[in-house]
Amino acid sequence: MSVSEFSARERTLLGPYFTNLDRGVFALRNLPEVVKGALFSRYSRTTKSLRRVFLDEFISNPDLALEGPTRGEGDGLVAAERAEQFYERVLVGYGDDSVAELGGAHVALEGISALAAKEVEESRIGLSPLEKSTRYVFFDRQVDGQFEYIRPREVMASPLAEIYERSMNACFQTYSEAIVPLMAELREAFPPGPDVSEGAHRAAIRAKAADILRSLLPIGHLTNMGVFGNGRAFEYLLIKMAASPLAEVRELGFQLSRELGMVIPAFTKRAGSERGRDHSAYLRQRELAVGGLAARLRRQLPDRSTGGATAVQAVTIVDADPLAEEKVLAGLLYPHLGRPLSEVRAAVAAMPADERRQLLHAHLDGRGSRHRKPGRAFEMPEYTVELCANFGVYKDLQRHRICTQQRQLIGTHLGYTMPAELAESVYEERFRECMAVADAAYQSLAERFPREAQYVVPTAYRVRWLMKLNLRELAHMVELRSTIQGHPDYRAVVHELTEKVREIHPGLAELATAFVDWSEVDLARLKSEQRNEEKAQALGLQR
Ligand SMILES: Cc1cc2nc3c(=O)[nH]c(=O)nc-3n(C[C@H](O)[C@H](O)[C@H](O)COP(=O)(O)OP(=O)(O)OC[C@H]3O[C@@H](n4cnc5c(N)ncnc54)[C@H](O)[C@@H]3O)c2cc1C
Repeated sequence: MSVSEFSARERTLLGPYFTNLDRGVFALRNLPEVVKGALFSRYSRTTKSLRRVFLDEFISNPDLALEGPTRGEGDGLVAAERAEQFYERVLVGYGDDSVAELGGAHVALEGISALAAKEVEESRIGLSPLEKSTRYVFFDRQVDGQFEYIRPREVMASPLAEIYERSMNACFQTYSEAIVPLMAELREAFPPGPDVSEGAHRAAIRAKAADILRSLLPIGHLTNMGVFGNGRAFEYLLIKMAASPLAEVRELGFQLSRELGMVIPAFTKRAGSERGRDHSAYLRQRELAVGGLAARLRRQLPDRSTGGATAVQAVTIVDADPLAEEKVLAGLLYPHLGRPLSEVRAAVAAMPADERRQLLHAHLDGRGSRHRKPGRAFEMPEYTVELCANFGVYKDLQRHRICTQQRQLIGTHLGYTMPAELAESVYEERFRECMAVADAAYQSLAERFPREAQYVVPTAYRVRWLMKLNLRELAHMVELRSTIQGHPDYRAVVHELTEKVREIHPGLAELATAFVDWSEVDLARLKSEQRNEEKAQALGLQR
């Protein structure tokens, strides 16, 4: 059907719902998520164009009530409940699970612990989270005289409540009291230069103070996050949340399910069905089963409970592909040769070193900046990397969705890192006292509440986790996370990772990670704050 074949009446009907009626590329608008999902679902099984399907099967459908005098542009939302029923019928006829990816929702989760935020952010495909920054915002606010941290019901109802609150309050109190004097010290150490605006300098000092002090923040501090996701990703998230060993996450999942039920119920209601509940039960049961076997094994392992800070290595490359270079080169050539991979690999294996290098340069020389990433051939080799760094580093690097990451329970046995600016300052002793109080609180809580005990651990304490990633993602991560706006703690970790990968695969990794930023900076975000200030001024905005 030609796109121009709509009658005048049809054009009037279609107008509110499509961005144009004459071209082959157009966007949908003013339709509920389920209707868009159902429409695409039907579209995949018909020879008709999308707008024709809409006219023939949707617009006059009494369930959808799309036609009518009140349905003008901008107010074309249909009765959600009836649309849901319609969606169900279309889905049965034409759809599969992936149809739930065709609609999405924006949700906010406020006043949740940083630990719960991590559980939500564990999701990868289909969810895009953004979280209140511990690097730009201070967490010193009190509501009704209380610092904002989670007070888990089970812990609060136990005799350990006082230990829990004392430890949390000690960390928050020190954090809050240090803000003003630390900013004054930083101003003295980094006075504004001649070409720097006062606003940008103030923002950069503030950001540096937040970066330093976040070490004190217990993992149970409350944060806010916004998540955009598709229905399928939300469904799986709800199933996982219902299976979480943390009561906070289970409760949060319940609330999330209720709110999503108001906007995309058809996409997420399976999570709360018998099938969804069974799925959650399976996830919980398998965790318990493996956990039980692991506990038996743990008793046979040597005791490492006092590992201590000095025994810790931040980056260990556990596995690296010995054929990494061959695999990348074969990946570069494969689309061009029309031969099976085995033959392409054999040709690469016989290639002299200078030809290999020429090939790598042919692909990478035009990059110019980190924004132009190496191509898919660089996804062929993989690395398994074990990291052991403070929770702040984990918190930030965990956000890389292309990696497979697994973390261990957070505790205090791996020691903590002290921000250089606090070491030997007037705050050193108080910082160490907070770490000791938190360690004691953690030890008291861990046996009875191994999961909730994580809340009292300050961000400075180390956590151990695994990251399996391909060379392309590794290059993206180390180039992005080494930029001078990055936190110095994770900059150090990605620098070490880059060095280690380059040792293993010298020519290849050096070229792939060419835009790692090694520069040393004092006031890391001054330049970006200055840029932001200039942009804001140009737009006439207040900062
Ligand atoms: C300086 C700095 C400040 C930050 N501040 C904050 C903050 O205040 N709050 C906060 O929540 N986060 C913050 N982040 C984290 C940021 O939001 C991302 O979570 C993080 O950079 C990892 O995501 P990525 O886009 O780099 O992609 P990765 O997840 O590493 O994926 C690699 C690449 O794959 C592609 N990709 C992956 N997933 C998708 C997708 N769903 N859609 C489209 N493309 C995709 C993109 O090209 C992406 O660059 C900050 C990051 C930096 C570097």
